[in-house]
Amino acid sequence: MKILFLDQSGKPGGAELCLLDIAKPYADNSLVGLFADGDFRKLLETNHIPVEVLATQAIKVRKQSSLFQALASLGQLTPLINKVVTRAKEYDLIYANTQKALVVGALASFFARRPLVYHLHDILSTEHFSKTNLRVAITLINRFASLVIANSQASKTAFIQAGGKPDIVKVVYNGFETKNYQIPEIDVQNLRQKLGLAEKFIVGHFSRLSPWKGQHILINAIAECPENVTVILVGDALFGEDEYVQELYQKVTALGLENRVKFLGFRDDIPQLMTMCDLITHTSIAPEPFGRVIVEAMLCGKPVVAAKAGGAMELVEDGVNGFLVTPNNPQELAQVINTCVQEKDKIKKIANHAKITASQRFDVKIINQQIQQLLKREQRKN
Ligand code: UDP
Repeated sequence: MKILFLDQSGKPGGAELCLLDIAKPYADNSLVGLFADGDFRKLLETNHIPVEVLATQAIKVRKQSSLFQALASLGQLTPLINKVVTRAKEYDLIYANTQKALVVGALASFFARRPLVYHLHDILSTEHFSKTNLRVAITLINRFASLVIANSQASKTAFIQAGGKPDIVKVVYNGFETKNYQIPEIDVQNLRQKLGLAEKFIVGHFSRLSPWKGQHILINAIAECPENVTVILVGDALFGEDEYVQELYQKVTALGLENRVKFLGFRDDIPQLMTMCDLITHTSIAPEPFGRVIVEAMLCGKPVVAAKAGGAMELVEDGVNGFLVTPNNPQELAQVINTCVQEKDKIKKIANHAKITASQRFDVKIINQQIQQLLKREQRKN
């Protein structure tokens, strides 16, 4: 099957890393069209997936944009839509992976007469989007998409609650190449030494730096933990949240935690860094649509504590394969961290169990088969 994948981002966020795995089996005769250049393009090229940057300028609509801002961007989109329509005629199906890709993909699917599949990586609620963006997304999906692949039950439910058609949406979780998460002990020890953390209890946080990802919650929590507990914050401000980054630095200084919180920036050695941690935290203060980092922590055999909302609740069963805490509650998070510091054997058992079950549940081969079946069905329908 020849697929035109569309993604608005040049940067490798969770949706893009998921797309990378989905596009691999189709690499021979498909194309990933991006609306911005960046490291994601390089990543696709490294994985031998054909890629083209289709837009020549950044699209200015943001998740919280008003109707006026959204309309003003339409003129700017015309050359991009024209290009996508031309490309789409050479493919069997358009696969939109992000919201702006949906807008462009929907119009292209109409003009090029190609089916549209939308991979929904978001919780379509006012916690994440402006009312205008929600209305535009739901209208376009209901009118043009024949299939919506939701990355969790939580994303599916929010889609339906926002007015999305229930009969076109199927849940498929993200898949992972499990062997990538098996890291030799010697590499882990070397990394600990290199970062000067050999004797520490390391709490990891892996996410772009953004207010809703809640890095500040972890910093507040760590102030209530023993001196030996150290945090690594892995990730960067991918979408212009530089003010938040400054706030985080100020908080660290104000709490006197300069020696206990390390900012490592964006990294591409996530499995190594996760395996080096004693505990991995997820602290989103708005419901997480899926939470790749939670599954990755499990695949590394590391205990994970996640904020109890959205997709995270489908991944973690409290006390069985990880821990759940109330979102936006640093005291509760600190309590769980302190318990984990004290009860290493108990949490090791939980982490081992999580590793085994996650390896089966999120195996990329099985997930890709599910996607393939759904896409074949779409092709047959059209
Ligand atoms: N990630 C990464 N480098 C970093 C920080 C994060 O490669 O420095 C990856 C992380 O391993 C995960 C993804 O980015 O696979 C984030 O996905 P998630 O679903 O957790 O959040 P999203 O970015 O989609 O909101």
